[in-house]
Order: sequence, then C-alpha cells, then structure tokens
Amino acid sequence: GELLIEAKGLKKYFPVQKGLFSKNNSFVRAVDGISLAIKKGETLGLVGESGCGKSTTGRMIMRLLAPTDGEIWFNGKDISKLNNKQLRETRKEFQMIFQDPYASLNPRMTIRELISEPLIVHKMLTKKEREKRVHELLEYVGLTSYHANRYAHEFSGGQRQRIGIARALAVNPKLIVADEPVSALDVSIQSQVLNLMQDLQKEFGLTYLFISHDLSVVEHISDRVGVMYLGKIVEITDKESLYGNPLHPYTKALMSAVPVADPRMKRERIILQGDIPSPSNPPSGCTFHPRCQSCMEICKTVVPELKEVEPGHFTACHLYD
Ligand code: SF4
Ligand code: MG
Repeated sequence: GELLIEAKGLKKYFPVQKGLFSKNNSFVRAVDGISLAIKKGETLGLVGESGCGKSTTGRMIMRLLAPTDGEIWFNGKDISKLNNKQLRETRKEFQMIFQDPYASLNPRMTIRELISEPLIVHKMLTKKEREKRVHELLEYVGLTSYHANRYAHEFSGGQRQRIGIARALAVNPKLIVADEPVSALDVSIQSQVLNLMQDLQKEFGLTYLFISHDLSVVEHISDRVGVMYLGKIVEITDKESLYGNPLHPYTKALMSAVPVADPRMKRERIILQGDIPSPSNPPSGCTFHPRCQSCMEICKTVVPELKEVEPGHFTACHLYD
C-alpha cells in the first residue's frame, strides 16, 4: 500500500544541565535514530518499557516536538522542518488520543464544547453544522445526543475515552497517534475501546500509530509492530511474525513475561537482568548488551544495524549477522 508516514533517522536529544557528576552538558538520547513507515489504513504498534522513547517518537511524528535530527514525510511531503505557521494546514490531519482521557478533557466544558473545539480551532463548519457533527460523532463512538450537555466527570473511564476518540475524529484526521489509550481502563473495557477503534478505522480509512507498553493490547490492534529499547527500534515486522517468531533477545524476554492461555504454548520465562540503563549514558555497542543472555564480544563495541533478516522482518542484533 501507499505510505502515509515515513520517518527517517529520527532523533530527539534533550539537554541535561551539567551537574555534580558531569563536567560537560550532556544529552538524554530519548530517541536515537529511528526509521519507520506506516501505510495508509494500517496500524503500527510501538511497544517497549516506559522511558524507551515511544511517546517521544509519537509526539515528533505529530510534530508536537521538533526532531533534533531526521526527517518526517507525510503524504509525500517532508514536514520535519516546517514551522508552526507552515504546519497549520497539516496539523488537522493528525490527532492524538491520550492515556488519561480525564486529564486531557477540560472539566469545565460540556461534551458538546469538547467535541466542537477542534472544529472551531481549525475554522471548520458553521455553528449549525457543528451541532449536527457533534451528534453524529457521539453516535459513531456509541454514545447519544443526550450526552452532549453533560461534563466529562459524569462518565466512566471507558466512556471518557470514547469522548476523546470523538473529539479526535471531529476534524476528519488521516493519522491518529494513540499513546497508551487503554492502559488506564479495566481489561473488559479495553477490548471494547480497541474494537471501537478498529471499527472506526475501517469506516473512515484511518491510519494509527498505537503506542503501548502492553504486548497483548498491541497484538490485539496492530498490523505491524515495532519494539523499542533505549531510543531505538530493535525489531519491526508484521504482527504474526513478531508474536510467532520473535528474533531479538529483548523481544523474546518481553514475550516470555506475557501470560498465555494455552499451557502447551508456554514459553520459558526469561528474566531480564538489571535495570534499563540511563539514556543519557547508554552502554556501548548494542545498548541491550549488559542485560542480554546471548551477548558476544562484538556486542560490546559494535552497534548492530536494523537489518532485514527474513522477508519483511527487521531486527538489530549481531546473532543474525
Ligand atoms: Fe544480545 Fe548481542 Fe543481539 Fe545485542 S546484539 S541483543 S547483546 S546478542
Ligand atoms: Mg509514554
């Protein structure tokens, strides 16, 4: 299919003040050179532990954060260097759904005001048309017009996420970046919201970048999945290959911690040693090497490149050199 988003060599380094232990100003390498592509109408999942740079990646692709280096192509146009004014038209093509819909919804606004706000910001539709649009959007997400006059606190977590989704859909975006959108919800509610997102994707041809630390949630919704560790993508492929045949030792360790229903499928649990190193002082070579059970000499000095090891299956690991 056609590409909607292509990120090339994206980096985001945040400066840290020099202090007691460092004489020089240093940088937190939150995102350290990632490349990825998202096809129109597909869902790319980004998975990894907290602090791996997946949210920063999402915010750069949304252009809420300017990249330190690299390019972001949207619909065949490089948007990485545009300023805010130049970005205005493109901005409405991207919308975001957040983890905590309660924190992202203004408590003093009615649901009608919350859902119409993006339309007003982007100067879309007349007042009368907006009213009609609000009712239409409430129905798309499984709520009713009756809810329009109420406030966010009157709704459950799952309903609030539905309101967040209606608000994101209001301006007819092409890309939705969803950052941990179901992590605050009960498991039973999670699948309802994920199914709703899938239905809306089909109906409106939406493209999703879906960010989560939860491998089961990512498996439920994604077509392809990228695994991030310390600001880099260490493995990326279609969902079936990733979950059926993980290649990178870090992916294998993450997978081994996910409970499986079928005991015959039970994998040996791989316990990760040590903590995630600081992204301001990442280990040399393969940044996963201090925690890797398969570490070889070369891993300590040579950075492994992301390479296609099987058709469409990319991983960054010297085991596959
Ligand atoms: Fe482990 Fe080496 Fe592969 Fe890194 S490159 S994941 S240290 S085997
Ligand atoms: Mg995050």
